[in-house]
Amino acid sequence: MKSLRRIATALLIAAALSCGVAVGEPAAPTLAAPSRAVAPTVAAEITLAPDLHLLRLGAGAYLVRHVCPFVCNSVLVEMPDGTFVFGGTPGFPNSAQLVLDWIVREHGPRPVVAVNTGYHFDNLGGNAAFRAAGFPVHGSDLTVRLLAERGETMRALTLGFIADPTSPYRAAHAALQFVPPDHVYPIERGLTLHFGGEEVRVLFPGPTQAPDKVAIYFPDRRLLYGSCLLLAGDRTGNIAEADLGHWPEGVRQLMALPIDVVVAAHGPRLDPGLLQHTLDVLARHATPSQP
Ligand SMILES: [Zn+2]
Repeated sequence: MKSLRRIATALLIAAALSCGVAVGEPAAPTLAAPSRAVAPTVAAEITLAPDLHLLRLGAGAYLVRHVCPFVCNSVLVEMPDGTFVFGGTPGFPNSAQLVLDWIVREHGPRPVVAVNTGYHFDNLGGNAAFRAAGFPVHGSDLTVRLLAERGETMRALTLGFIADPTSPYRAAHAALQFVPPDHVYPIERGLTLHFGGEEVRVLFPGPTQAPDKVAIYFPDRRLLYGSCLLLAGDRTGNIAEADLGHWPEGVRQLMALPIDVVVAAHGPRLDPGLLQHTLDVLARHATPSQP
């Protein structure tokens, strides 16, 4: 028990000090490189459209970058049984469809399972494509409720961020059909999925950037998709629905995980230092320096 606690403490400290340098870990099955001496890098970039790219992060793992016109990252991970797991979605169904088409082109027909990370457009905007193809879409009960209650408010807020009235993205957001997930789980419990022996964990660390944001953890790859609850930039961004009191505690919960690669919804940074960076940005926001 004591040694377990010591390992947990060591992991917490390592995560807190983390700058992309891997630390010694108890042996765990890994599909990706077991540990990294340098910050994670992109191995290849595949262009599916001028605003849609796949960035290969490791064996079968991709960051899906959709610029719509905001940079929105989701993740796509190939499981040992051939299933592709989509964490988050591109902003629009036609962009999600381009990724589905790429899977068929490169790998032949495959099962796809989508996991929504919240009710905002960048967490589930591609759902119509998955549902039309007959693929299951997992999402929390709170995401279903908030999409029904606040979907149009969120759309108005998003449109407000696009100043150019002639932008095709403005038209796309105005026309976006909100499709809820069809496989619903209680958010407080989270969700664990298995595919050919690999585990995928959907984690709810309490209310953060929005009441229903979840992170997706791929323990065998030490890959964390933090969605919008991790901040890759220097500002807090959209905090209209944020719980600024609890958010840091939610991030600290994720720091206990063994992680080599981290993907945030908005920004290019991929190293585990993103978690501490998020805490730093939130702390600066809480105590702005006097001019
Ligand atoms: Zn977001």
